[in-house]
Amino acid sequence: MKTISHLIDGRIVAGTSGATTGVYNPATGEQTATLDLASVEEVDAAVAAAQRAFESWSKQSLARRTKLMYAFRNLVAENADHLASLLTAEHGKVLSDSAGEIARGIENIEYACGIAELLKGSYNEAASTGVDVYTVRQPLGVVVGITPFNFPMMVPLWMIPNAVASGNTFVLKPSERDPSAPLFMAELFQEAGFPAGVLNVVQGDKVAVDRLLEHPDVKAASFVGSTPIAKYVQERATAHGKRVQALGGAKNHMIVLPDADIDMAADAAVSAAYGSAGERCMAISVVAAVGDVAEPLIDAIKVRMEKLTIGDGTDAASEMGPLITQQSRDRVAGYLGSAADQGATVVVDGRDQSFDNDGYFIGVSLIDNVTTEMDCYKDEIFGPVLSIVRCATYQEGVDLIKNNPWGNGAAIFTQNGAAARQFQEDADAGMVGINVPVPVPVGYHSFGGWKDSLFGDTTMYGPEGVRFYTKAKVITSRWPDPANSRVDLGFPTNN
Ligand code: NAD
Repeated sequence: MKTISHLIDGRIVAGTSGATTGVYNPATGEQTATLDLASVEEVDAAVAAAQRAFESWSKQSLARRTKLMYAFRNLVAENADHLASLLTAEHGKVLSDSAGEIARGIENIEYACGIAELLKGSYNEAASTGVDVYTVRQPLGVVVGITPFNFPMMVPLWMIPNAVASGNTFVLKPSERDPSAPLFMAELFQEAGFPAGVLNVVQGDKVAVDRLLEHPDVKAASFVGSTPIAKYVQERATAHGKRVQALGGAKNHMIVLPDADIDMAADAAVSAAYGSAGERCMAISVVAAVGDVAEPLIDAIKVRMEKLTIGDGTDAASEMGPLITQQSRDRVAGYLGSAADQGATVVVDGRDQSFDNDGYFIGVSLIDNVTTEMDCYKDEIFGPVLSIVRCATYQEGVDLIKNNPWGNGAAIFTQNGAAARQFQEDADAGMVGINVPVPVPVGYHSFGGWKDSLFGDTTMYGPEGVRFYTKAKVITSRWPDPANSRVDLGFPTNN
């Protein structure tokens, strides 16, 4: 069985801690690899390599950084099929979904290829007589990324390109569940010509994460994962003086108004709820059906659910794959049981579908008459389950979103421009879709939710990403004739 290990200082190094965990194919339940888990000493070696590399990398010209970033972009694009197959083999999502994830990741590399434009800074001539003031942005040093299982390629690419193009060096700690695609991506990064130590990968668990958050040479931490760990990461890293952005979980609502096109809303709800088996932080998990839209909408959703093909992600016919672990599958099944016990109507029960293999499969589910006290509403299920909350008015839908602890995405489906415009203003969430169910911003805007979906001050990638990975320096400069120099204890009066 293959062993997956770390990439430190430009080369793959075997783990020395003795701690390991298994990596599985969720479509078959088979163990496919053993993953080395880093000790504190191994994490320290990665940070030391990044610290050494920072000394020269931070001084490289923008021209060189840009050239290498283009080379990396091209290598990822050329190897997209292989990356997608590595990803599907460990995550389970269907190959077309893996390809989409890689394409969205490439978008973030392309953004960082414009780093020269992004780091232009600003300049004021003659702030005072003969005095110029200008701002430049400089890199922080060693920065780290801790990433979740559900987007093992895309989420690291939300971080690495902007961080590295800005002159920082990076240590990535990917999810233990699907480490092969990000590790291969890091090898492509080396192949692109980046100096050793600019990007390091340590495989690991809490031991590695805690050390990264405490290490004195680490200047900033980017995290994406579940809300309790995001909160923990933010608290721990800030306590150790780091700059932190920690993105957490979600419960994304889609309001459907009575005037919405029912077929379009049903297509969107099914795609956004069951795509990637609901294991997306931007998945729609609640439809707030306003007025009399519920009955026709549920009928239209059911018709579409019956046609979905669930199976091994490598099978071109599959539209949805398995969940990441047996434990996740059983957890999802538990919510269907509790929803029925708590008074909801389980319209389609994914537990009824049987699969003739040992993969972590469950069918798609639809729950109607859900209320806010039910567990299936209160928790992030992170599986292929869609809840319908019936609302009498638009305002009830908006209040649901407002009173929900998470605030990642929120969408509205309507043909009424004024209602959509109002929702843009009212929605208590960081990313809003108008007739768009999964409003993940393009790489040149930034990604991040509100409330318990983000801890820290800046969102991720795009302009906010560059700002997060750089610190501003303001320079005030004058070149007077020394003959006019004199002592002046006063403060400028701006007269
Ligand atoms: P997770 O929180 O379990 O793990 C994320 C990372 O944290 C992993 O690298 C893991 O090794 C590490 N980790 C786990 N437990 C830890 C602990 N006790 N101490 C220190 N580190 C720990 O999340 P996951 O299950 O991999 O991913 C799914 C979650 O991520 C969902 O909640 C989803 O909504 C969220 N997510 C959010 C976004 C977003 O942009 N807001 C994007 C993707 C995923």
